[in-house]
Amino acid sequence: MSRKNFDLIVIGGGSGGLACAQRAAQYGAKVLMAESARLGGTCVNVGCVPKKVMWNAAHIAEAAADAPHYGFDLEYRGHDWSALRRARDAYITRLNGIYERNLAAKNIELIRGIANFVSSHEIRVGDEIFEASRVVIATGGRPVLPAIPGSEHGITSDGFFELDHLPSRTAVVGSGYIAVELAGVLHALGSKVTLAFRRDRVLRHFDSMLSDALMKIMRDEGFSLIDHAAPRALERDVDGSLRLLFDDGRQAGPFDSVIWAIGREPMVEKLALDRAGIRLDSRGFIPVDRYQETSVKDLYAIGDVTGQAQLTPVAIAAGRRLADRLWGGMAGRYLDYSNIPTVVFSHPPIGTVGLSESEAIERYGSKDVKVYTSGFVPMYHALTPRKPRAEMKLVTIGAEERIVGCHVIGAGADEMLQGFAVALRMGATKRDFDDTVAIHPTSAEEFVTMR
Ligand code: FAD
Ligand code: NDP
Repeated sequence: MSRKNFDLIVIGGGSGGLACAQRAAQYGAKVLMAESARLGGTCVNVGCVPKKVMWNAAHIAEAAADAPHYGFDLEYRGHDWSALRRARDAYITRLNGIYERNLAAKNIELIRGIANFVSSHEIRVGDEIFEASRVVIATGGRPVLPAIPGSEHGITSDGFFELDHLPSRTAVVGSGYIAVELAGVLHALGSKVTLAFRRDRVLRHFDSMLSDALMKIMRDEGFSLIDHAAPRALERDVDGSLRLLFDDGRQAGPFDSVIWAIGREPMVEKLALDRAGIRLDSRGFIPVDRYQETSVKDLYAIGDVTGQAQLTPVAIAAGRRLADRLWGGMAGRYLDYSNIPTVVFSHPPIGTVGLSESEAIERYGSKDVKVYTSGFVPMYHALTPRKPRAEMKLVTIGAEERIVGCHVIGAGADEMLQGFAVALRMGATKRDFDDTVAIHPTSAEEFVTMR
């Protein structure tokens, strides 16, 4: 059996693994990357990238419906799902190739197959054993299926990207990012969508203004929202259609497709982590310290497998900072997980960074928290019959009114928030926002004109 030595072995060629491997190689480290599936991981193959393509398609469908109100005389002859899927998949294949060429250009050795630990610093892939002084686990996660009868009749976000046609009637079960994003895409492209969630609201961990506004818009636009609905079973009827049964005896259906969007679990079971000496936390993720180091020296974990802010830029930032510290001479460099900006690609999108109003009150007390809000129908909708409102909120603390939360739902929110996240990170106050001249006419200007 052959055995090769490296400075770094990265297990998993997704967002975090690729970023870490490439940064380390740029500093001169000899790197091996092990990947069992397609390069790019979740984000590129079954996550952000295909999702954003679908979101763009949904956006175009909405614009096409709005077009007559702007004087266009268009004949709409429908949407070709297969053509969209072919174009989307071809784009992803191109990205897979680009990632492979990037690795080769940086002299990173790529081994295809499932990696597992032989010992803390040795891994096996197929018949080969590789050794390194440092190992990074970046194996990501996969969607969870509920443990209820018939769950196998439903699909997850992975299955959504394999659909070869638009289901006419879809149920989406869940209340997080994926549930509202996929529900929005399917609705805009013409499916009759039911969104079932087990508590009173979707996006429960976001500022309540955002979830209230989104649920109102969804109801106004014809989604069926079923709250307090914990699924008990999924049944297939004789005609092939699906029916959801809930704990309290309610039922919903018939559906052509049911999508489970109830969270993701880490991909760890094939790693033989016990041989490396790593124990999982109570949720099954790999615990790490602020330097991404596991309980075993020189054995690191980054990205979704650590269960912290499961976002691509977070995995990338953690991977790059780790390489900067270990090979780039940047002692003490680590990723600060506070104030991570994020966008939910709902319709309209949501952008959020920092503390929600209730989190700020919990942390600082209600006397020290002052909130500014603004709500309006964006100018774009002055001419359209649909009137989805935009809502914005600034959460400030203390006499100097330092901004600790910035939240927006509305057209353009997705492209609006990045700059405000920089301001928040720099400690901007309400006065700094007030002193910034507005850009008119935009929705973003409301953030600097709130009274
Ligand atoms: P991954 O990208 O999942 O990569 C892990 C890799 O490890 C995989 O390629 C896997 O095949 C490989 N692997 C696993 N086990 C082994 C093994 N034993 N041996 C070898 N290889 C192995 N985030 C955003 O920031 N914005 C978005 O808009 C967004 N949209 C999303 C939409 C969906 C539908 C989903 C599911 C996720 C979305 N995310 C989004 C989240 C984002 O995709 C993840 O946070 C990100 O991909 C995590 O990167 P990672 O490197 O931790 O893991
Ligand atoms: P999330 O963790 O965002 O949401 C899942 C929600 O489903 C839970 O919060 C819970 O909400 C509900 N839930 C959990 N278990 C059950 C159950 N058994 N039955 C019914 N409902 C249940 O997970 P997602 O799958 O939506 O997404 C995974 C992660 O991927 C996200 O957290 C995010 O980090 C990332 N992502 C990012 C995107 C972006 O950046 N735009 C897009 C898509 C994904 P409750 O407790 O309220 O019922």
